[in-house]
Amino acid sequence: MAFFSVVYCLCYWRFVPNLSWLNTAPSIMIEEALRLQVEEECLKIGCCVRCARRFTGDRVLDNYVKHTVESDATQADDEPPAKKAKGELCIFCFGVLAPGDIEDIAMKAVASLTEADYDDPVFTTTLSMPVCNLVRDKSIYVHLGRTVAGYTDQVKFLHLLPLKDIWKHLINGSIAKGSGKSADNGYNAELMVNVEMAYRGDRREMEVISKLRPELRGPVTRTTADSTLESSTEAALVRCLRLPPGPPVAPPTYQLSCLRNAIFVAGRYNKYSRTMSQTPWTVDGARRTESSLQERITDRLVQLTRSAGVRFSASGREDVDVRTLGRGRPFVAELTDPHVTLLTPKDLLELQREINAAHPEVRVRDLQLVTREQTAHLKSGEEDKTKSYTALVQSLSGPVSADKLYSLADHKELVISQQTPVRVLHRRPMATREKTIHWMKAEPISDTLFKLHLQTQAGTYIKEFVHGDLGRTEPNVGTLLGGTFDILALDVESIELDWPPAMPENDGDT
Ligand SMILES: [Zn+2]
Repeated sequence: MAFFSVVYCLCYWRFVPNLSWLNTAPSIMIEEALRLQVEEECLKIGCCVRCARRFTGDRVLDNYVKHTVESDATQADDEPPAKKAKGELCIFCFGVLAPGDIEDIAMKAVASLTEADYDDPVFTTTLSMPVCNLVRDKSIYVHLGRTVAGYTDQVKFLHLLPLKDIWKHLINGSIAKGSGKSADNGYNAELMVNVEMAYRGDRREMEVISKLRPELRGPVTRTTADSTLESSTEAALVRCLRLPPGPPVAPPTYQLSCLRNAIFVAGRYNKYSRTMSQTPWTVDGARRTESSLQERITDRLVQLTRSAGVRFSASGREDVDVRTLGRGRPFVAELTDPHVTLLTPKDLLELQREINAAHPEVRVRDLQLVTREQTAHLKSGEEDKTKSYTALVQSLSGPVSADKLYSLADHKELVISQQTPVRVLHRRPMATREKTIHWMKAEPISDTLFKLHLQTQAGTYIKEFVHGDLGRTEPNVGTLLGGTFDILALDVESIELDWPPAMPENDGDT
């Protein structure tokens, strides 16, 4: 007995992930005689052998792999769960820990992974149980406390293992073997096999929560069920719970799905077209433009990574008729549920060349994989960024002398006041904003036409600065030069955002 306790204790300490609670309860070990008693009682009330072990407080996951009790082996290993009489289903896990169910679900998971053909070599599993499992957990615990002397005192600090941890440990090996991937028993893998258990009696069994907390309104969630059960007195639990819980009213059903966390591809783009929108442009469900810049970049990415979808974001946006030149505008494509994730810089460079060859009006550079955290750079300091533009401006009020045009360069750090432009009023709230024109310089083309080069604070409406927007932008080119002006074309020359970093492979390709 003493030897056992020492061994048990050593194993126990090795496998406890969080020891902080031990500070308050330094020497709790369930005694062997009590352990046997607990197991016997659990089996009697209808727990499977693994759940019986769990209620003894055993936290050594490997102990759950062994089958030591005869009854477990006879529990219809090869029979599908639906065919089992309901009396045979474990009253706690509903059979999800039974070898038959474990193998059955593992086989389905392997088939699913094989069919989906994810290239991620590591997976993890998640199990979602019906909420009434919490009620049953509490009910068995209270029952054991009332029937096995000393149980509550010895087990209350042991933190019974979560059912899903035991399940994960049992099933991961089989899935790993069948799929050729390695299993992550923690929570760090990006590829997940999610198993959701549904149980017909769940709602009915949850009614007890409303009995325990009559003031509760709205649907009972896992969190409210948990807090209600934890905060109820033993007397209330004894009064309201069925002790021990009865057999499940029906076998559970399982839904299995695989999901790979998103990957993020960042880069910069140039747009050389004055008829292409950045994102698909639809009005009342009808497309206004044939294709968008976003689709030209992401269609191939989605195809290459075999993703379920894509979310495209860029550092600002240009109008349909505005080109983006220079080193381009930074963007990020978030690819959801990608099946191909092991992309090398060479793969991305090849993809970049493909996109650039297919669409002469779009050019991408610096394509690279980034983390979710790094994508925050795209939006950071959005207001402080500066952008450079070239506008083609026409005088509508007669010739303007070159000297007058050159005088525009005298205005440095010019603060202008802009009301929300008429053309975007339908989607932006009415507001007046101050923006800074850092510098500007005119380049005459004819006596009524000139190029205006300017650098401004991000968010400045350039078109309105040129034509004045019926006096809603002040001062504007018209008030500065005296006359009426219109903008014929606009190019974004550069966006001062030093992210994503330039890729060295691109040097000879720009
Ligand atoms: Zn069980």
